[in-house]
Amino acid sequence: MDTVTIQTATLPVMEHFYTIQGEGFHQGRAAYFIRLGGCDVGCVWCDVKESWDAAAHPQQDINDLKDFVKATPGELVVVTGGEPLLHNLDALTATLRTAGLKTNIETSGSSPLSGSWDWICLSPKKFKAPLPEVLTAAHELKVVVFNKSDFQWAEQHAAQVGAHCKLYLQPEWSKAAAMIPLIVEYIKDHPQWELSLQLHKYINVP
Ligand code: SF4
Repeated sequence: MDTVTIQTATLPVMEHFYTIQGEGFHQGRAAYFIRLGGCDVGCVWCDVKESWDAAAHPQQDINDLKDFVKATPGELVVVTGGEPLLHNLDALTATLRTAGLKTNIETSGSSPLSGSWDWICLSPKKFKAPLPEVLTAAHELKVVVFNKSDFQWAEQHAAQVGAHCKLYLQPEWSKAAAMIPLIVEYIKDHPQWELSLQLHKYINVP
């Protein structure tokens, strides 16, 4: 018997807002963020712990989300979380793309890949390993550096992504003062990596 896939028409949304992308390859670009509720990764330093419980966030129709984006001049949508891949994102990305929008995702890669993406930013977490299918598909590997051992951990993941995947090291926000000098020296010695800062936090925008 054939399996029938029912696409999700609503998703739990913690918040959505138009701002600039503060991190990684698309840093500085205007972007509409859709932050989905639900995460099962459990990073100790997570700065959006209120996103973890999907049931705590209202279900929103994906067409309404598309309309919110289209009410702005923005052309780029960043789907984040939480861990957005806890949800099937095929219908959301189809709706956004049909409306002429670019679809980017920020994910830990810990759940199966769904959706159609113009850009996949994989930020692997030690608390739940990324799946091989997400490592292979990633356009950008962004490793959060919390302590010195994270450089070796970053290299372990860089060895698993595609040849054209961009590589970023980003200091964990509370450790930035201590980690930035180490990251700068590491990048000077390993120039395949680039620095990503959470620009939005420095300029105080969402
Ligand atoms: S994957 Fe992201 S949302 Fe989930 S616990 Fe880690 S930092 Fe927080």
